[in-house]
Amino acid sequence: MAKEFRRIGVLTSGGDAPGMNAALRAVTRAALDKGVEVMGIFAGYEGLVHPNLKQFTARDVSNIISKGGTALYSARCLEFKEEEGMQKAIQTCKENQIDGIIAIGGDGTFRGATDLSVRGIPTIGIPATIDNDITSTEYSIGFDTAVNTVVELIDKLRDTCESHARCNVVEIMGRNAGWVALETGIATGASAIVINEVEFDEDKAIEQILEAKKNNKRNFIICIAEGVPAVLGDKLYSEKFAKRFEEKTGIETKFVRPAHILRGGTPTMRDRLLATQLGSEAVKLLLEGKSDLVVGIRDNKIVSTEISYALKLDRMYKGTLKDGDLDKFTNAQVAEMKAYCEKRNADLRKLYNIAYEMAH
Ligand code: ADP
Repeated sequence: MAKEFRRIGVLTSGGDAPGMNAALRAVTRAALDKGVEVMGIFAGYEGLVHPNLKQFTARDVSNIISKGGTALYSARCLEFKEEEGMQKAIQTCKENQIDGIIAIGGDGTFRGATDLSVRGIPTIGIPATIDNDITSTEYSIGFDTAVNTVVELIDKLRDTCESHARCNVVEIMGRNAGWVALETGIATGASAIVINEVEFDEDKAIEQILEAKKNNKRNFIICIAEGVPAVLGDKLYSEKFAKRFEEKTGIETKFVRPAHILRGGTPTMRDRLLATQLGSEAVKLLLEGKSDLVVGIRDNKIVSTEISYALKLDRMYKGTLKDGDLDKFTNAQVAEMKAYCEKRNADLRKLYNIAYEMAH
């Protein structure tokens, strides 16, 4: 028999993403619809460690579905990573009669969710990050908006590149994942895309660009994922790339870094829809007595995955598995994880190859 839920808490944590508000609204409304009270917890886990909460009515989440940022604010709470901080958070839940929590954020946020779950506060995670680097879901809340934002920006750059026969090298946020740079590159007709997931042949790319120039192409966009300089340990990689490209090709080249612009703004319809679906599902699962799960979307279906499985799947995909990480999983589960990672990787490479087909 599932535990009776009278009140749940909701928080947004880690890096913000457009659509977090739509998810907050969905969680609040779905819970209230089931007769369950909602406490908004401010500034992520910080609001549990140092109590900062407010009971939410349906009106407290009015008019936020279209707003960027997060009305609950976000923070990175280091204290919560320590046992003492976690115990304070548990105490806050008890004092405020919070029977379960919905945590909206990225992988760090989900680690925190597991910490609450194993200490007796059932918690469900909702993936919200522009990076789209939560492997257990095909899309995370905020990704679609971020891509649309940078597409609009690059379209503008392209206009002026065309007028002046110029190139723009654009460094695009997305942590170590190349999804934002890749999909943006395709949608803006980029001449080259540099991401960590696929080896980049600079000479070949330059050759292809010079060929296109001979064919009267005047505008050139090159997208570099933020993770490339990070992994190379060279913060200035993209600027240096732009300079080198100009020297090698003779094409005037400007460097642009839109940075956090991608993290703000009005969420797209897709992000609002996804946030609403995931918020509703997270509440449903929590009230059914489920815990330590992260919701997501795969093959256009709303799904849920155990957080421990999701975090290891992430490491497998990113090639950062540690000794013993897979010990608790069955052979069948490990095979399933491998197949999923291979498919995701193949999907990404397919897109990457299409991008090159277009770059003439
Ligand atoms: P994101 O959720 O976007 O990945 P972070 O990695 O910064 O962002 O995590 C957000 C917050 O989640 C952290 O500030 C911390 O409060 C909590 N958190 C992160 N990692 C852990 C962990 N290993 N254990 C407990 N809490 C964690």
